[in-house]
Amino acid sequence: MTGETDGPTGGTPRPVYQLRGVNKSYARRNVVALSSVDLTLHQGSFSSVIGSSGCGKSTLLKIMAGLQSPSEGSVMLDGKPVLGPRDDIGMMFQQATLMPWMTTLENIVLPIEIRRGKKAGRAAQGKARELLELVGLKGFEAVYPGELSGGMAQRAAICRMLIGEPKVILLDEPFSALDEITRDFMNMELQRICRQTNATAFLVTHSIAEAVILSDVVHVMSPRPGRFVEAIPIDLPRPRTLEMMNTPEFGAYVHRIRDLLGKGALS
Ligand code: ADP
Ligand code: MG
Repeated sequence: MTGETDGPTGGTPRPVYQLRGVNKSYARRNVVALSSVDLTLHQGSFSSVIGSSGCGKSTLLKIMAGLQSPSEGSVMLDGKPVLGPRDDIGMMFQQATLMPWMTTLENIVLPIEIRRGKKAGRAAQGKARELLELVGLKGFEAVYPGELSGGMAQRAAICRMLIGEPKVILLDEPFSALDEITRDFMNMELQRICRQTNATAFLVTHSIAEAVILSDVVHVMSPRPGRFVEAIPIDLPRPRTLEMMNTPEFGAYVHRIRDLLGKGALS
């Protein structure tokens, strides 16, 4: 796939994350949430999964994060099975969930403090300041979350996700609670941050446009049970711009994905 050779280091990027034959059923409710999911993420790539609400996207992400175990199949990160939550996996959700009684800086180093203690948390403050600068929040170190806008809070959440230098970042509709203008802008910021940190990213979204503008590969997921119906490489140049959303190429990708989602919903 074209996008997989897009890494800033050049050459053939190595696989970082691998899922093989992942199934998940919730026995008590007799729900098969995921069926036969195979997925490989390459170093420095941006992939996404798109599917309608309830098709199993969050279930997939939780399994990838080690927060839930698959009923069948294997999940490997950097050659090691994912058996529970790990330091080298960064996650971000729709809500920033910052601790209201902690400053921005304290919130960002919190994961380090929880894992390695107060001293390690203090030592990570320098890195946290660098990350705040990276996301455009320099000067907001001592501010409390109540004084941050939705977009700023999500920027802080990006810093908190990156502080542990994760090998992969998993994003579950991270900007869907923001207004459309802020969301577009944050998506472009996310692209910039991913390129600057050479992150390997996986995004869950129900916005076709968002998936296309950000991704090297879009995985289209069908509901009941959630399975990948097609992987679509997005051959738009990098860096992507919001103007690209007005091009016929962009429109053709959106059209194709919408078609696939329509078919999946009927099957
Ligand atoms: P999405 O994120 O795509 O909206 P989810 O992964 O949250 O979808 O849910 C997929 C399906 O699995 C849904 O039918 C949902 O009701 C079911 N489900 C999710 N979590 C649980 C759970 N903990 N127990 C039982 N069923 C669940
Ligand atoms: Mg979800």
